[in-house]
This record gives sequence, structure tokens and C-alpha cells, in this order.
Amino acid sequence: MSSALSDPADTLAQALARAEADVADVTDQLDAIAESTALVPDDEHDAEGATIGFERARLRSLLARAEAAVHELRAAADRHSDGSYGRCTGCGGAITAARLAALPSTPHCLTCAATRDRW
Ligand SMILES: [Zn+2]
Repeated sequence: MSSALSDPADTLAQALARAEADVADVTDQLDAIAESTALVPDDEHDAEGATIGFERARLRSLLARAEAAVHELRAAADRHSDGSYGRCTGCGGAITAARLAALPSTPHCLTCAATRDRW
């Protein structure tokens, strides 16, 4: 089955599944680093110390982003359930289909997003 017009509920569910998989994946990578560094008691004199520190910081920032995406997608799925999906939470106006296609979880129309200086 394929359809030119995708159901926003499907789009949201798929994006949420991807974001949740990202969270699990990055969490696994952080766990792996925690395990590998536990084997190296003297972090300061470990030749890989800086690299591991950098990698850990990178993964933590990825994790924060993935968790934020999960949060926004769940909120969008809730709005879809209560029928307010596609309406701007700022001004109540319609969010364009193109904007929703690009940012399925966005709660704001382009005008409000620009005013708030965020997506
Ligand atoms: Zn708005």
C-alpha cells in the first residue's frame, strides 16, 4: 500500500520510532564508553582520554537532541489525538502542509517560529 498523501499519524509514529531508536542507540554507545573507560583507572594519563571525553560530550549532545525529538513527537502525537494537530499553539492559525512535511512535530506556524526565534 502506498499513498501520495501520507497520514500525519503515520509520519509522526515513524519519526517517533526513529527518534526512540536514536535514543536507545546513543545510550548504548554511552554505556559502551562507560564500560571501556572503567577499565582505564587513570583517565588523565590515558592517551585516548581526550578523545573519549570528546566522544562522550558529542554523544551526550546527540542524546539530548534525540530525547528532545521524542518529547516533541509525543506532544505532536497528543495534539493529533485531540484534533489540534496542524494548528499553531502560538496563534491558533493553520500550519502549512509544507512546514508539517518538513517538521512533523512543529507546534508553531512559520510566523510564530520566526518571532520566537526557534523552529
Ligand atoms: Zn502561529
